[in-house]
Amino acid sequence: MDISMPFNDIRDEHLTLQLSTACSSTRPTQQSPPLVSSSSQFEPIINLLGVGPLNSHTASVALPCNMTRTRRTPTQILREGQTEDIPAPYPWATTRRAHVYSLHHLFSNGINKIRGMVQCKKCDQKYEIEYDLEQKFGQLATYVYQNKSAMRDRAPDVWMNPILPDCKLCGQTTCVKPVIGKKRSINWLFLCLGQLIGCCKLNDLKYFCKHTKNHRTGAKDRVLYLTYMELLKQLDPNGPFDI
Ligand SMILES: [Zn+2]
Repeated sequence: MDISMPFNDIRDEHLTLQLSTACSSTRPTQQSPPLVSSSSQFEPIINLLGVGPLNSHTASVALPCNMTRTRRTPTQILREGQTEDIPAPYPWATTRRAHVYSLHHLFSNGINKIRGMVQCKKCDQKYEIEYDLEQKFGQLATYVYQNKSAMRDRAPDVWMNPILPDCKLCGQTTCVKPVIGKKRSINWLFLCLGQLIGCCKLNDLKYFCKHTKNHRTGAKDRVLYLTYMELLKQLDPNGPFDI
């Protein structure tokens, strides 16, 4: 990684673009939506959000050489009658099982909010909640960036035992669980942004890892870690989320 890149300049430009897009008046000649200007197209989005390596010290600490190592399993075999492509279950999911679009694609297409079904364990009501994509990705990416080396390839407790949201209907706290459903329709991006993937069963996580060609053996903390890293990588392919 070229740590001499003027990240702050890029970030400033990005912020200016955001403002100009929002106001539609200050820079009428600049049509690019946030995060997709030509100069930043191949920049890790984690940097644009002010999360990534902004100086040489943190870069050298947080990005050891072995982070570039990828661990892939050989070709995966689908069962008879099973196809890799499915109807996209959400606007932010692709037609490939267990794959979501990149942030670049999502922001380019005006997808800024990610919705998902939840159910309260107290009042039993089902309803939708939504997350702000940029805000939640920024929080998660910051957490991973600051804690990845300490995780040692295992999901931390906060991922294994997710802190559930409060119920907006009955007012009880930490009682709203995501509705998981069938494997092919799991709302991976919603679960990822809410750091709720730990609510999935081990078999759900193995399904995800199978279709993203990650190792799917081992304990839940290992497979859960791989699931988070794969999703972050899908969102920000040039970010520091290699396994
Ligand atoms: Zn409730």
